Amino acid sequence: MPNEKSVSLPVRRIAIVGSGLSGLTAAILLQQQGHKVVVFEKSRGPGGRLAAKRVPGGSADIGAQYFTARNPDFLPFLRHYAGDSTFAPWQGEFGFRSVTGQWSPFPEEHRYVGTPRMTAITRALSHHLDVVPETRVKRFSRHGEQWTLYDTEDSSLGSFDQIILTAPPAQSRDLLMDSGLEAEAVMLEDYVAGILPCWAVAAHFNETPWEHHQGMRVEHPVLYWLANNSSKPDRKDEGEWWVLHADPAWSQSHVDTPPEQVAALLVEAFRDLVGFAEDPGEVIAHRWLYARSACDAQPGHLWFDEQQIGLAGDWLSGGRVEGAFDSASQLVQAMPSGA
Ligand SMILES: Cc1cc2nc3c(=O)[nH]c(=O)nc-3n(C[C@H](O)[C@H](O)[C@H](O)COP(=O)(O)OP(=O)(O)OC[C@H]3O[C@@H](n4cnc5c(N)ncnc54)[C@H](O)[C@@H]3O)c2cc1C
Repeated sequence: MPNEKSVSLPVRRIAIVGSGLSGLTAAILLQQQGHKVVVFEKSRGPGGRLAAKRVPGGSADIGAQYFTARNPDFLPFLRHYAGDSTFAPWQGEFGFRSVTGQWSPFPEEHRYVGTPRMTAITRALSHHLDVVPETRVKRFSRHGEQWTLYDTEDSSLGSFDQIILTAPPAQSRDLLMDSGLEAEAVMLEDYVAGILPCWAVAAHFNETPWEHHQGMRVEHPVLYWLANNSSKPDRKDEGEWWVLHADPAWSQSHVDTPPEQVAALLVEAFRDLVGFAEDPGEVIAHRWLYARSACDAQPGHLWFDEQQIGLAGDWLSGGRVEGAFDSASQLVQAMPSGA
């Protein structure tokens, strides 16, 4: 169980931009301290890159594929706030294929997934919170000690004592810039450059295209990661849904290629790699403009004390699901209101 403490300082109104895992974690921890928290999310639902797309017969995880739990606080947090039934270990064979075609196993480690889809976790977390969906925060301006947030129509979203940004670095930088915080915005440039796009494709096959692994990281000019989504716990698909992620450099050079063309290229590369002739039935493609961070600097979080603005997100702490949790937890610890 996370360390629950009640607030001994004045109650603050805190706005959180983004309802991915880092935004939801920060919101829950701050609310637990007694603060009034509102989470603004530009999309229809919470989750961010912990994402699933509805497909015939179920859903396919098109963003994060699995997560680790090396931080001893992570699983207790999820169990307490999302519930045991929203995630489970993904058992299977995981292999790395080198450029020369040599296979080696992944290190022994517990790998977890949301059940029956990745978004089950973030949806359950969001039930504890005031999340305002379909609301893109465009800018904020200071009036005395308070910040007023505005949406894209320039309508006020309310006044707050503190703001936490959990959007990917390019979007956080633009928000700071549009709010006149140029010096803080410029500090994010290295992070912006360090995050690359990723094309994701989900393809349905009637037969098993490859039975030796459930998840594969491959060194390949087109492909990066291949997973049998139907092998994850609590999926009840007929046939198999496979998720194919393109190589980051390939994704970058095909960022404007039409989705149908990308889907065809990825499926062709996959069938070539595993030696499988069947055409998939359904195929869907999704482009992530900001996928995984490859930035060397990992400060954990950023806190601008004079402005009372904090930043959290995977890109500040390892670039993974667990990093999003770590970053948000560290920021909350570091905020004056969390002392
Ligand atoms: C293809 C892919 C594969 C991945 N595979 C793995 C994996 O296997 N294992 C792993 O651990 N990690 C993986 N990751 C990374 C993992 O998904 C992220 O580390 C994690 O989900 C990031 O969470 P976050 O809360 O920091 O950011 P996000 O999930 O990106 O959340 C940010 C939220 O902010 C919202 N937002 C942005 N701007 C605004 C605005 N102006 N106003 C309101 N809302 C806004 C967005 O809509 C989003 O919901 C993968 C990511 C991708 C894309």
